[in-house]
Amino acid sequence: MRVAVIGSGPSGIYAADALVSQEDVPVEVDIIDRLPVPFGLVRYGVAPDHLSIRSVRDTLNKVLQKPGVRFLGNVTVGSDVSLADLQACYDAVILTYGASSDRRLGIPGEDLDGSVAATDFVAWYCGHPDADRERFERLLPSATSAVVVGVGNVAVDVTRVLAKSVGELNHTDMPQHVLETLQSAHITDVYLLGRRGPAQASFTTKELKELGELLEADVLVKPADVELDPVSAALAESERGVGRNVDVIREWAERAPAGKPRRIHVRFLSRPVELRGDDRVDTVVVERTRLTPEGSVEGTGEMEEIPADLVVRSVGYRGTPMEELPFDERSGVIPNEDGRVTRDGEAVAGYYVAGWIKRGPTGIIGTNKKDAVATVASLLADAQSGALSEPTTPGGIDALMAERGVTVVSTAGWDSIDEAEKALGASRGRERTTIHDRDELLRSAIG
Ligand code: NAP
Repeated sequence: MRVAVIGSGPSGIYAADALVSQEDVPVEVDIIDRLPVPFGLVRYGVAPDHLSIRSVRDTLNKVLQKPGVRFLGNVTVGSDVSLADLQACYDAVILTYGASSDRRLGIPGEDLDGSVAATDFVAWYCGHPDADRERFERLLPSATSAVVVGVGNVAVDVTRVLAKSVGELNHTDMPQHVLETLQSAHITDVYLLGRRGPAQASFTTKELKELGELLEADVLVKPADVELDPVSAALAESERGVGRNVDVIREWAERAPAGKPRRIHVRFLSRPVELRGDDRVDTVVVERTRLTPEGSVEGTGEMEEIPADLVVRSVGYRGTPMEELPFDERSGVIPNEDGRVTRDGEAVAGYYVAGWIKRGPTGIIGTNKKDAVATVASLLADAQSGALSEPTTPGGIDALMAERGVTVVSTAGWDSIDEAEKALGASRGRERTTIHDRDELLRSAIG
C-alpha cells in the first residue's frame, strides 16, 4: 500500500511512524510538505528558547530516516499537485497540515499597522520562509509598549520573547536578523491580557512560571485580578493545573518589583474592545469584564486605555480548507469520524485526517501521537476490508513532479539542510542557526 501524508509536522510524522511500524499491511509512506524542510510547528511554532521541546525534532527525524518513509519537501498540494493527482498515485491520503491561519478579534482597529497575529510573529522569529521580515524589522525597533491579547501558551511564548534580553536568546537557533531586530527593539512594557480570570487561562504552569524568572523583566499583577469568585475558587481547588497557575499568579501579585528595565503586566478580566491610532496603533481600549455563571464573560462598561505601538493577537490558530474536501467553517476542521474524512456523515473513501486539522488547535505535541495512531487504525481497517482503491498512475508522484519541473527536497536534501544549519550555527558558537530564506534552503538541499 502507498500512503501520502500531507504535512510533516508531528501529527504527519507520527502517522507515518504508525504506518511503517505495523506488520499487517506492508506500507510505503511519502510525507509531502510545501516547505523544503520538515517538522511543521516543531520548527516554526515551538519557541526557539524552549530547547527541550524543540529537541522533539530528533525523534521525528528518526522516523524520516526509517525504511518505507520518504520526505517530499517543496511540494504544494493545490498548485504543484492536486488531491486528484494524489488519489491516482496513492491508496490513501492522510491530511495533517494543521491550522496555519489565525483567529480574529473582531474589534475596530484590528487591521491597523502595528497590530499583528501571533501566528505571523511566531513564524517570523522562528525563521519561516514566508514570514514578513520587512514588517517586523520596521515595527519592532520603533516599539516601546506591546499588548499581547490572549492567555494561552502561544501568548506566553510571545510575551517571553518580547521581554527577554538578546543575551537570553543568543543560544537559540533564531536567524541572525531576528536576533538583531529584537536587540534593536526598546520595548519596556508588555501587557498580557486575559478576558477571563486566572482560573480560566489556558497556559500551563511550567510555561507561565518562566515569565517570573526573566533577567530583565519584572512581572506585575494587580491583587484585584487574583481575587477569585466562588466558581473559579472551586475550579482552582479541584483542578491541579488551575490551582498551580493561580498560585504562581498570586505569588507575583505579592512580589515587590525589582526595578528591572522591562515590565510584564499580567491582566485578567480585561478584553480589548478597540485599537486606536492614525497610521499605526497607539492605544488599546480595554474593558473590564466579569465572569457570567456559565463561565463566559460580559463587559462592565469600565474602560482603560493602554498605550501600545505593537499589538499581538494571540487568540488561537485556525484551520483552512483543502481544495474540494468538506470543511467545518465554524470549528475550522475537516469533518471526520475516527479520522475518516466525512461528507454529510458519509466517509469520503481514501481520505483521512490527523492532528489540528482533525480536532482543532489544542493539546501538546504528544497529543498528536495518540491522535495519529487512532487515524492510522481506521485507515488500516479500511485497507483490510477492501474499502480503498489502488493507485492508477504507474510512475507515481516522482514522474509527475519531474514532468512538472518541481524541485522536490528528499530526505537526503533535508539532511543537507540540517548539516548546513548546524555549520552556520557552529560558525557563531551555537548548535544551529535556522536558514530562513527559501532559495538558500533549496540551494543547501541540492548541495
Ligand atoms: P489557546 O490555548 O486556545 O489560547 C487562546 C487564548 O485566546 C485563550 O486565552 C482565549 O481565551 C483567548 N481568546 C480567544 N478569543 C479571544 C477574544 N476574542 N478576545 C480575547 N481573548 C480571546 O491557544 P494558543 O495559545 O494559540 O495555543 C494553541 C495550542 O498550542 C494549545 O494547546 C497550547 O497549549 C499549545 N502550545 C503549547 C506550548 C507549550 O507546551 N509550551 C507552546 C505553545 C502552544 P478564552 O479561554 O476566554 O477563550
